Amino acid sequence: MLQRVNELGLGDIVEKLDTGERLAFEDGVRLFDCPDLLAIGWLANREREKRHEGRTYYNFNIRLEATNVCVASCLFCSFARLRPGDPGSYTMSLEQAWDKLRERAHQPLTEIHVVNGLHPELPFDYYLDMLRGFKRIRPGIHLKCFTAVEIAFFADLYGMTDEQVLRELLAAGLDSLPGGGAEVFAERVRRKICHDKCGADRYLAIHKIAHALGMRTNVTMLYGHIETKEERVDHMLRARALQDETGGFQAFIPLAFHPDNNQMRKLPAPSATETLRVHAVSRLMLDNIPHVKAFWIATGVEVAQVALWFGVDDLDGTVQEEKIYHMAGARTPEAMTTTAIRRLIRAAGRDPIERDTLYNVVTGPEAPDDAPVLVQ
Ligand code: SF4
Repeated sequence: MLQRVNELGLGDIVEKLDTGERLAFEDGVRLFDCPDLLAIGWLANREREKRHEGRTYYNFNIRLEATNVCVASCLFCSFARLRPGDPGSYTMSLEQAWDKLRERAHQPLTEIHVVNGLHPELPFDYYLDMLRGFKRIRPGIHLKCFTAVEIAFFADLYGMTDEQVLRELLAAGLDSLPGGGAEVFAERVRRKICHDKCGADRYLAIHKIAHALGMRTNVTMLYGHIETKEERVDHMLRARALQDETGGFQAFIPLAFHPDNNQMRKLPAPSATETLRVHAVSRLMLDNIPHVKAFWIATGVEVAQVALWFGVDDLDGTVQEEKIYHMAGARTPEAMTTTAIRRLIRAAGRDPIERDTLYNVVTGPEAPDDAPVLVQ
């Protein structure tokens, strides 16, 4: 394969990777342009194995979207309903949100992942009480809640600074931020697909504050719509630059655009090969972010499995309920058991490791895969 990579004119990139020299913007564009996907995958896999060998992470988590009422109008979104009372809109009571955790008392969950629409009428106490309630019900659970876009919205709505919002949420039990809302950082793209929500600079500034407050976060990229390859590379480099400053990102998560039931439905969904390439290039460009995750809900289970040889070392988790992608036409299941996740990782020739949100090992690869089924 090395000869093939050299024949493709990528010998200088191999040399940079071998000597620890950072890949430049132009290198990223060349990786997207290269016609040989397997060569790109081979390069990304080398970087993946340097960091993680065959280890492949997942977690025992649950997702919760407490409201889909949202004042923003992102063109790619199939989840949001503009106003309370619009057909299909919902807002959980706190009891309903807490019930999602209570009814899983038998499951060894380690994380709740909460993201919401930008609801214009809920008080800040709704979110603070939600966090406090989760911690009351299950003190050890990790609360990965609210995208940077939500944090910015709270600050504007409640007349606070971004830092004040984060500090109050932290005091109520918040442990980390998910990476959603990044979309594509390029202004051209944001103006077209998500003009009325928090911009790229503020998204990154909020993550920077979260890192300074001691929280870990993730960063995403929505790919496969109107963005160019240059804009993808630019996005990666902006995440890389912040990571140089703070070291607070744990994972980079490319998210596939899904076109059903939204205003961009005329566009095709990204192909499997595009998905594999985006994950591979992410691994190669983001030399300072430890993990590249394939969110199996978005990529499809089978493509996520192949991606484990294209730079990916993390598959997210059991998820259990998911609305955002399923309202956009995702045909994946909404949940996987830990047994199913372990088996699909093993079937891909990798070693399954259950992690908690901070990548501490919960169950190593030596554990049997046919442990009791924990998600019903
Ligand atoms: S992506 Fe988020 S912010 Fe945008 S419309 Fe959907 S729910 Fe609202």
